[in-house]
Amino acid sequence: MKRLMRLRATQHLRDLCAETEFNRAQLIQPFFVVEGLKQEEPIPGLRGNVRHNIPSALKQIEKDLAAGVTHFLLFPVPAEKKESGFSHDATQQTISEIRRQFGNSLCLWIDTCLCSCTTHGHCAVLDENGIKLDETLDELAKSALAFAQAGADGISPSDMMDGRVARIRAALDENGFNLVPVMSYSTKFASNFYGPFRNAADSAPQFGDRRGYQLDVRNRSGAIAASVRCTEEGADLLMVKPGLTSLDLIRPIHEATELQVGAYQVSGEYGGLSVLAEQGLIKFEEALLETWHVFKRAGAQYIITYGARYAKQLGI
Ligand SMILES: [Zn+2]
Repeated sequence: MKRLMRLRATQHLRDLCAETEFNRAQLIQPFFVVEGLKQEEPIPGLRGNVRHNIPSALKQIEKDLAAGVTHFLLFPVPAEKKESGFSHDATQQTISEIRRQFGNSLCLWIDTCLCSCTTHGHCAVLDENGIKLDETLDELAKSALAFAQAGADGISPSDMMDGRVARIRAALDENGFNLVPVMSYSTKFASNFYGPFRNAADSAPQFGDRRGYQLDVRNRSGAIAASVRCTEEGADLLMVKPGLTSLDLIRPIHEATELQVGAYQVSGEYGGLSVLAEQGLIKFEEALLETWHVFKRAGAQYIITYGARYAKQLGI
């Protein structure tokens, strides 16, 4: 008699039949470095994550490397907010100190956006008519080049402006960084699930919202088209964000582009697990692992998660 339960009866049988396997090297740990921060600050809702200054970031990376993390995604938070003409000195310093201390024992991706730099918290240079696209793309390309010059391994544009990947790719190639990959936030929705992050990165918009450039959650074809566009512009890796609310798009994007697609388990998703665990309602580590398996089952090649540093203790 057919019994589906038969193969679930023991751990050995469940392991035999498991279709998703983890490679710890496919997890990416985000971290925040805030210019001029006196001492590290907790981030409400993001268990195990704080806002760092450079010395505390270096200590954290050392611990994370010991815990088996190899990929890091830096969110630089400059002290001075401006309208345009952003300085990247502090971020360059962060990158070069990490490089100096840890050499090539880690792969360092840099989030590239303007929302932590601008007075208004939007991801673009604005005037009274709205987004100034050309200036925005110039600023993004300048940022990417500055980060590559300081020793970044990869550039990760998160702004959702049309044309950013092409402009960044051109700036890198023209300056001898043709082997620096671009991991594009290619399918990024306007979402409520970014809440804890915005506090961590000082990037909450001071007026309006980001629906004019981030994707509409109701729209599937536009979501796939955004990743196709990034592919045509020269992206090396693609991403869906938020991860859990975009599971249905991972395989279609991969099929449409033949590029590898990762999932960003964003702050609100991760924070949801943190808060439920604080209330004693779930087991944090097991719930975290469960979500990662689901990303893998949905076809995610890599996962950006605030809990990458727990992977080893979870047996990955
Ligand atoms: Zn942004």
